[in-house]
Amino acid sequence: MVQSSNKLWVNLLSKKYTTGSTILHASSLSNASPIWSSIIRAKNILKDGFTWRAGSGSSSFWFSPWSSLGYLGTLVSYVDIHDLHLTVKDVLASNSPHSQILYTQLPPSASDLINNLHIRFNDSIDDAFICYYRLPPPLLDLNLELHLPEKIKFLFWLACHNSVPTLSLLHHRRMNPSSNCPRCCTHEETFLHCVRDCDLSRPIWHRLGFITPDFFSSSDAHEWLKFGSTGSQAFAFSTSVWWAWRHQNLMCLQNETWSINRLSFNIQSMSATITSCFSSRSTTTSEEIHVKWNNNNFPGVILNVDGSCLGSPVRAGFGGVIRNESGFYLSGFSGFIQGSSDILLAELFVIYKSLTLAKNMAIDELVCYSDSLHCINLIKGPSIKYHVYAVLIQDIKELMSQSNITLCHTLREGNNCADFLAKLGASSDSDLTIHASPPEGFLDILRSDATGTFFLRE
Ligand SMILES: [Zn+2]
Repeated sequence: MVQSSNKLWVNLLSKKYTTGSTILHASSLSNASPIWSSIIRAKNILKDGFTWRAGSGSSSFWFSPWSSLGYLGTLVSYVDIHDLHLTVKDVLASNSPHSQILYTQLPPSASDLINNLHIRFNDSIDDAFICYYRLPPPLLDLNLELHLPEKIKFLFWLACHNSVPTLSLLHHRRMNPSSNCPRCCTHEETFLHCVRDCDLSRPIWHRLGFITPDFFSSSDAHEWLKFGSTGSQAFAFSTSVWWAWRHQNLMCLQNETWSINRLSFNIQSMSATITSCFSSRSTTTSEEIHVKWNNNNFPGVILNVDGSCLGSPVRAGFGGVIRNESGFYLSGFSGFIQGSSDILLAELFVIYKSLTLAKNMAIDELVCYSDSLHCINLIKGPSIKYHVYAVLIQDIKELMSQSNITLCHTLREGNNCADFLAKLGASSDSDLTIHASPPEGFLDILRSDATGTFFLRE
């Protein structure tokens, strides 16, 4: 509803419920329909994750909520007529201090904010509200590291939020007359009863070897899922939860009862499939991969770049090195990115910075190696309108279209020099240092790259 305001269903809901205000500021009345109440409840959880992201900067400086202070027009008693039509870019791309182009008197907190802002604009990207949301606490430590099919993760997520549609929940919501388990008829059908404790679920666990009293003692679904989905039995556990839930559905909705043999066969085969698909140490590790600098043997000028996030609090830095095809050092640079701890920003920014430097050095043909496949896909792929770094990505695309630049992925082992400089950048305080000659401690890595040393992929 925030990002696709031209869709029919969005128009319909907005006209019916929001009475002029935007969805992010809408509220719900006590007699609102369940649909609208649910949308508002979800909105209130997500709202803090939404931020304004600059694109062309054409939003109104006064009458759009682009700053952390909200609508700036509400902070002043009146807006001078000369300032009425100013856009965000008009002000923030003006000479420093930015506030001096305004005729209107801003409160000191607002002028401080504006004068210290450095925003990147690109005319081909629209300003947008983007969702930069991080998962709420209950899920942070569960399953993010564990590779499972999305449907199982989603079931876990529902369970952690007490939203699995068991009869206990449906009864609570007055959607079912009874909360009792329809299979054993003796207990309330909570999530844990349904997948673990019911007389028809417990034998599944016994068959698979989950027999300790501890396993059955936890009464907190989140704790139990977290405990079960870590360790060597994680896949067997997760697939068992899935099939115990499926079995309940089959019995109650389709009148089908499966034997324990059939269930445990399904669990074991699903678990084996997940292991072979997702296991980090799969059979391919027996094949050794050797990587060297400029692995693709490109002729011409070679640029290696890398970003780095180090220490606590985390500091982001970047570095790059330009060499000829024989590995002869032409130039290098490193720098520190103030106020960010985002590795994606560092990886993107270093590409932008290095291409600008190459342009200034009048190098119009080069191969740029980065070890961030994610960045390369973002740059080579279609524009993503609501990406937090859409403007930076667009700037890189434009730089690349102006000269003959090939962007290439390298494995980390082929990017040692850039890695060294990125770490140097992250531990320095300088925005940008150009190393006309190789910095200290750098010659050995340069030499092994130049001689074409192969490194074993870890
Ligand atoms: Zn039961």
